[in-house]
Amino acid sequence: MQPFQFSRTGDLQSAYSAHGAAEATDTAHSRSQYLAGGTTLLDLMKLGVMRPDRVVDINELERTNAGRIEFGGNRLRLGALTRMSTVADHPDVRRDFPVIAQSLQLAASAQIRNMASLGGNVLQRTRCTYFRDTSYSNCNKRNPGSGCAALDGINRPHAVLGTSERCIATYPGDFAQALIALDAHVEVAGRNGAREFPFAKLHRQPGQTPHLETTLAPGELITVFRIARAPFTRRSLFLKVRDRQSYEFALASAAVALDLDGDTVKQVRIALGGVATVPWRAHETEASLINQRLDETATRRAADLAFADARPREHNAFKVELGKRTLMRALRQAGVMEI
Ligand SMILES: Cc1cc2nc3c(=O)[nH]c(=O)nc-3n(C[C@H](O)[C@H](O)[C@H](O)COP(=O)(O)OP(=O)(O)OC[C@H]3O[C@@H](n4cnc5c(N)ncnc54)[C@H](O)[C@@H]3O)c2cc1C
Ligand code: SF4
Repeated sequence: MQPFQFSRTGDLQSAYSAHGAAEATDTAHSRSQYLAGGTTLLDLMKLGVMRPDRVVDINELERTNAGRIEFGGNRLRLGALTRMSTVADHPDVRRDFPVIAQSLQLAASAQIRNMASLGGNVLQRTRCTYFRDTSYSNCNKRNPGSGCAALDGINRPHAVLGTSERCIATYPGDFAQALIALDAHVEVAGRNGAREFPFAKLHRQPGQTPHLETTLAPGELITVFRIARAPFTRRSLFLKVRDRQSYEFALASAAVALDLDGDTVKQVRIALGGVATVPWRAHETEASLINQRLDETATRRAADLAFADARPREHNAFKVELGKRTLMRALRQAGVMEI
């Protein structure tokens, strides 16, 4: 691990100054990194995948708004320094926004959830083996322009949606699917002030530039996630399929939220995880379900539509059917939820 400068701060202004990463082209490749729970960053530094010169510990921001959970008016506000376990266990979040609580509860292990923050969670990096193993030089995400070892390699965990010929890495997180399904907004702050935008605009598909993962400016900090209460937020759930139940990343997941009139769909929100390069909102699939009875025919048609553009590789074709079944099961379960 290369030497780095370490500092710790409890206010936003000194965080940006300590970060001071004007030279970087994006957050992931910045020479400076913020440190929250450290459960992603420290791993990647030890592996030599991330090699920052400066590490700025922002955990003291937990004592500010960035560490709070608040219900105000019709909105849930989650500070970015809040720990995953705190939100997953919060009784009001579990009752009113079950998909949020479940996406966090089903992620990682209890120890990791106690350390890891919400901000760090949405910015975690892909688990692609070739990205994490620096003995492979051909990884466009780590070494732009070097190629992609996964295209013809072991690509079982890789994405089938949103891929490009430059990168097929899966976005690994769970919480982001819940956020994107519920039309969440994210607040960020940096040297040029604060701004708020739809969470759906945070992550970038790989396209020709897989090394650019988010739309954050260098040094920008995520401070808050905002989720509005809506007729579908209570009837929401997160379903995750993985290789082992104890703790594992998703092979396929679905975050769904429903507003029903009897068994007819008034509104629906669907996001897919484990199968795409970014948190994946299935807008057309949602549209196909409006005013339909939530029966086998409608859910199968919706699932087929969700994966119509899938581009499987040699080892991950199974994800297409698995993803469809996961979505169908999630819709069925949400349809019969007691709320
Ligand atoms: C064994 C294992 C299993 C796991 N399984 C799952 C799983 O099933 N599902 C899942 O979703 N996750 C899983 N994870 C990932 C885990 O949830 C993340 O590592 C964690 O959420 C990251 O949060 P952190 O606070 O530790 O981030 P850190 O490691 O501190 O930071 C991660 C990145 O985000 C940046 N950052 C952190 N906070 C901010 C902020 N507020 N603003 C701007 N930048 C910031 C850092 O600079 C760094 O680049 C697993 C991790 C491990 C090690
Ligand atoms: S899939 Fe992406 S992260 Fe993995 S080796 Fe290819 S370029 Fe790198």
